[in-house]
Amino acid sequence: MSHNGKLYIETVGCQMNMLDSELVVGALRQKNYELTSDIKAADTILFNTCSVREHAEHKIYSQLGRLKFAKRQRPNLVIGVMGCMAQKDQELIFDRAPHVDLVAGTGQLAEIPRLIDESRATRERRTALSLGRRDGSRDEVAGSFESYDPLRDPEMRPSPYQAFVRIMIGCDKFCTYCVVPATRGPEQSRPPSQILSEVRTLAGQGVKEVILLGQTVNSYRHTENGQLFRLSDLLSLIHDTPGIERIKFVTNYPKDMTTDLLEAVRDLPKVCRYLHVPAQHGCDEQLKRMKRGYTIADYREMMARIREIVPGCAVSSDFIVGFCGETEEAFQKSMDLIRECRFKNSFIFKYSARPGTKADDLWSDDVPEDVKKWRNNEMLALQNSISEEDNADFIGSTVTVLCEGPSKAALKKYGQPVENRSDSSNAFTAGNPAGTETHKLQLMGRTDCDRIVVFDGNPRLSGSLVEVDIHDCTPTTLLGSIVTHALTHGMEFTLPVVF
Ligand code: SF4
Repeated sequence: MSHNGKLYIETVGCQMNMLDSELVVGALRQKNYELTSDIKAADTILFNTCSVREHAEHKIYSQLGRLKFAKRQRPNLVIGVMGCMAQKDQELIFDRAPHVDLVAGTGQLAEIPRLIDESRATRERRTALSLGRRDGSRDEVAGSFESYDPLRDPEMRPSPYQAFVRIMIGCDKFCTYCVVPATRGPEQSRPPSQILSEVRTLAGQGVKEVILLGQTVNSYRHTENGQLFRLSDLLSLIHDTPGIERIKFVTNYPKDMTTDLLEAVRDLPKVCRYLHVPAQHGCDEQLKRMKRGYTIADYREMMARIREIVPGCAVSSDFIVGFCGETEEAFQKSMDLIRECRFKNSFIFKYSARPGTKADDLWSDDVPEDVKKWRNNEMLALQNSISEEDNADFIGSTVTVLCEGPSKAALKKYGQPVENRSDSSNAFTAGNPAGTETHKLQLMGRTDCDRIVVFDGNPRLSGSLVEVDIHDCTPTTLLGSIVTHALTHGMEFTLPVVF
């Protein structure tokens, strides 16, 4: 049933959530929904939620609270909650926000258009949820989590030149602090032929860079036509897709960083020399409590193999501070690991106790909030100093950058609300802000080791690989100027262009 209405969608959380939102909006646009960034103008409101930390849930519940009386003005309004919090809290969401119409888990995305139509037509609540991990055999539970990979709508991507490609769903690692195995179900790898055809479709839509997604992406394994495909095999399979310039994959699991995978990163030119491998902690006792499945010695051995097989490879990580029972001494071991591994950057989080996780069942959240905050800031300061020192090594060099478009600063300066992107709350303009076609803008892009680079240039460079001379840096960004090649008397000169 087509519907000429306005859709507002807000997405919090990880890249997997951003992809889910992109796909759901793509499906609703096929039914004539128009995306709006004005929540007051929408007759359908969706929240794509995250449960990794308490704060992310609170944010959505307060948003829902603000919509309590919205239906008085807009009786035709449908409010829906999707994503990890939907699968985790299920009907509890209706108790806390009785004005919500539908709840759909991560494994039920394909049902969302139908649920919206039905709840609008009947004014009754609708749910689509997957089984809990103890509600059946592994196969039954896995079967209740559908991988949702409809035809891609280029209009829906935050950047027309980059696209996420889901290669697996779920996770079976059961780290004690994590809700993902419950909210995204058992680990399932998609057939390589499906992934290849999706990458070809994306290349045909002008995508230059694909980012392969999985909770533990290097655990990818799928047998098709009697042939086993590991991630290294999948990378080889999609490597020669015409039009694709770069391939990245996130997030890796330390114990699954195999030598065949590292050799694929070394030998396949389009595969970026960038690996995101969360360590989470630098102390063996804490890693054991987290049930991470490896020791610091294992992590060090992995880092040594990365350095040996892929010299110059950028490695980034994740760390949790303030996990149950973390002493100052244990915390300092995480700091030591950062000093030793010199990560490009690390995502640092304060432990947030999650109901339904083993850690929450077994241990109290005993590290005081102010201590968590102090440790978080100490670790961030250390990581930033290392990131800036490493970025400074690029000053005076020339790097190749995939230009993604105007930088955040340029968008802020020229910012225009978006009417057709997959997340209404993230105003984004692909292409050129009005009246800037001929202007030079601050552009941004990334190197193949995933370093962010900003430089001035014509927005028409978006989607192309450009060379940039680096002349300054911050902990998070390289600053440079574009290099153009001039022809004089048949001889090619390379001139730095400074605006
Ligand atoms: S590997 Fe651990 S932290 Fe990562 S998604 Fe799986 S359970 Fe969560």
